[in-house]
Amino acid sequence: MGEECIFCQIVEGTAPAKIVYRDDEVVVFEDIKPVAPVHLLIIPTQHINSIRDIDESNAAVLQTLVTTANRVAREKGIHDSGFRININAGPNGGQTVYHLHFHLLGGRFMTWPPG
Ligand code: 5GP
Ligand code: ZN
Repeated sequence: MGEECIFCQIVEGTAPAKIVYRDDEVVVFEDIKPVAPVHLLIIPTQHINSIRDIDESNAAVLQTLVTTANRVAREKGIHDSGFRININAGPNGGQTVYHLHFHLLGGRFMTWPPG
């Protein structure tokens, strides 16, 4: 998958990114077009197209993504003020990169509903 997927390329180090954290399971990096003072992308190192592809066989990855989001939010100083985790899924969900990712957004008040 790595050749076609920009986020796999970031995992593999063949595409540049401002990486905030990485381990064997997860990579966190700055969004190239931030929409909030803190806008990080949290991705599994394993290629999964979309949250629509999560089932009983691979749901454990979500625990890793959530615990990573909480830890990184603390490190970025937005844990107490609050933040938004956004997951876009498929065309109507506004997904543009088909490698599962959490948007971690913080540092300002998030309006609701989203557009
Ligand atoms: P989606 O619309 O799929 O939920 O979000 C994809 C996000 O990835 C967008 O916010 C977009 O700015 C970001 N993005 C797309 N390509 C790159 C890239 O090459 N590097 C980084 N750091 N972010 C990217
Ligand atoms: Zn990928």
